[in-house]
Amino acid sequence: MTDVLTPSQPAHTAPKVGFVSLGCPKALTDSELILTQLSAEGYQTSKTFQGADLVIVNTCGFIDDAVKESLDTIGEALAENGRVIVTGCLGAKTTDGGENMVRQMHPKVLAVTGPHATQEVMDAVHLNLPKPHDPFLDLVPQSFGVAGIKLTPRHYAYLKISEGCNHRCTFCIIPSMRGDLVSRPIGDVLSEAKALFEGGVKELLVISQDTSAYGVDVKYRTGFWDGKPVKTRMLELVQALGDIAEPYGAWVRLHYVYPYPNVDDIIPFMATGRVLPYLDVPLQHSHPDVLRRMKRPASGEKNLDRLQQWREACPELVVRSTFIAGFPGETEAEFEHLLDFIREAQIDRAGCFAYSAVNGATANDLPGMLPIELREERRARFMAVAEEVSAARLQRRVGSVMQVLVDSAPALGRKGGVGRSYADAPEIDGVVRLLPPEKISKTLKVGEFTKARIVSAQGHDLVALPI
Ligand code: SF4
Repeated sequence: MTDVLTPSQPAHTAPKVGFVSLGCPKALTDSELILTQLSAEGYQTSKTFQGADLVIVNTCGFIDDAVKESLDTIGEALAENGRVIVTGCLGAKTTDGGENMVRQMHPKVLAVTGPHATQEVMDAVHLNLPKPHDPFLDLVPQSFGVAGIKLTPRHYAYLKISEGCNHRCTFCIIPSMRGDLVSRPIGDVLSEAKALFEGGVKELLVISQDTSAYGVDVKYRTGFWDGKPVKTRMLELVQALGDIAEPYGAWVRLHYVYPYPNVDDIIPFMATGRVLPYLDVPLQHSHPDVLRRMKRPASGEKNLDRLQQWREACPELVVRSTFIAGFPGETEAEFEHLLDFIREAQIDRAGCFAYSAVNGATANDLPGMLPIELREERRARFMAVAEEVSAARLQRRVGSVMQVLVDSAPALGRKGGVGRSYADAPEIDGVVRLLPPEKISKTLKVGEFTKARIVSAQGHDLVALPI
């Protein structure tokens, strides 16, 4: 059976809601908002579909496999519970005939909403499972104060700074599901960050669809935090997050950063360690013609030059990126341009999808769709080159001492554990495998930092001795 998410809750009698969260970190933060609201209103969560009075499924609709997984999970919840509310990206999807896809496939669901729709989901919950009337429940403490409930381990958390996207990349249907860019007020974002650090978060992962564009929609309006004016803009946001994190000794990691010129201003903060020298830059391709066909943001930028300048200003910088191989019309020469780029740009961590047509994306109508075998073959060739680059870059770390955040350490790390350095984001990058410490007095604890000497590199991971 699909795992049903259950944040830790105090025991009390109350209506029970089962919750399944599928999809990306942005969907996870939507789930956290809904669970926070459910908890604040006194609902309990159930570990099983059968034990719940109602089930909420937060879906993903990005690629065909994700659509299938979401539809299967809804089917499972309907079979085992029968009372199901659907939210998330798939909820906003329509069929070729213009009907809501979820409703067409599963007409028995109680309600369907799109992504980022906490209030609509709560309205559907109230309608189908009235809220408990216990005045004491309003006093139930939330896990992270104003930041609400988090579904990640207690020592790291995603911080969503905006919703939606102003771009119209031809392979992507996110803007049609999540709408144009809407930046959260900077005061709210910074208050949430502070609450998370106060609650024990040691690593804050800043997410959005386009982090570099933060504040564009509100013309970089001046907001307030801690009694001081602060602009709704990436530079000020990163500066303030670095300041807030510092007394807690916590990490701030930036995801989905497009290589616009304004990112140049962030690099000095990385060089001084105020935020992690790590950038997740979704480049998707290197060849200007393919980027134009993709309608990518910053497609006119000289990405290679820019990355090299960033590396000069901050030699520790680690760059992660994702790419698409076999985009419609991609020639062998364009693909080889991409392979050269990976080698020259020395991308530390690269992921690659073989192009797959997403229902509703305009790229489906582009000429020159490549056969699936060729797209897969290019993906495999890409990964071979990317892994070679990545392995060589990891190898350079052997012998160095790194700060590692411990993610797992059974028996206080006596048998070793698993952690991550600044070069590894959770879930998507490699890990640091920690050997049992040599010193008997040395222990490892989840959510704490340890220094470790890197002894070898294995695939995407490093092996290290805690010191
Ligand atoms: S930048 Fe492009 S790929 Fe990313 S969400 Fe916006 S439209 Fe989609």
